[in-house]
Amino acid sequence: MTEHASRVALISGGSRGIGRAVVLRLARDGYDVSFCYRSDETAARAVEQEAAESGVRVLAMRADVADASAVRAWVSRTEQELGGIDVMVTAAGIVRDNPLVLMSDEDWHQVLDTNLDGVYHVCRAATFGMMKRKSGCVINLSSVSGIYGNPTQTAYSASKAGIIAFSRALAKETGRYGIRVNVVAPGFIETDMISTLSDQTRERALRAIPLNRLGRAEEVADLVAFLASDRASYITGAVLQVDGGITV
Ligand code: NAP
Repeated sequence: MTEHASRVALISGGSRGIGRAVVLRLARDGYDVSFCYRSDETAARAVEQEAAESGVRVLAMRADVADASAVRAWVSRTEQELGGIDVMVTAAGIVRDNPLVLMSDEDWHQVLDTNLDGVYHVCRAATFGMMKRKSGCVINLSSVSGIYGNPTQTAYSASKAGIIAFSRALAKETGRYGIRVNVVAPGFIETDMISTLSDQTRERALRAIPLNRLGRAEEVADLVAFLASDRASYITGAVLQVDGGITV
């Protein structure tokens, strides 16, 4: 019997990278988990199977977080099949790096639609149930880019800064319903998202990281699991960085 037996966690972007690590960690902690993904069915089925090995119920559903009706369908299916959502983690996100003068309108909108509208859609669909039950925990994935800005990442940085402001406002709005809302802001984490970095950029990043290595998705999932737990019962509206010290 674990601390979290029969609690339900909803994770966007759970098929790869940080979202995948969060799904597996929360499943190991005893949560029933529901996650969405956009396109990689094979990866999603593999995560579904691996999470189920923890003996919890697992629901994996294709839903583009930029599409409000697809998100509503995913959330309502989760509530019907697994029950009320206790913990919600928004990990779905994309990057489209380019200097501003070369940025296409399409890339700008794709990043904002996925990263910022996506968080809005998931929170909009899932917090009402938490308010009714007067309890819940929301953890939104931002980035150190959303705090300090990064060259070639105007769209990404804007979307991630938006998530921080959104989450602080939501924390103030929903605290009296027993809902905690926090932000996790990772630095460079070894996932597909940063696999396209040039050797030069990677070297430069490593020199700027006091711990002198990139982070692992599991290290972000550990922080998410802590924030989701009752051990974090007095933490809300916080932005917690897991970045090896890159922003010091
Ligand atoms: P990743 O390895 O590229 O994985 C992204 C995940 O999000 C995949 O499961 C993907 O599913 C899903 N996804 C993407 N667009 C989606 C959409 N429109 N609807 C539903 N699911 C979608 O990325 P990651 O590195 O794990 O990043 C996870 C989060 O952490 C992101 O919000 C990212 O901005 C943030 N972050 C990452 C880093 C880093 O260094 N890796 C640093 C700071 C912040 P499909 O495969 O099906 O598309």
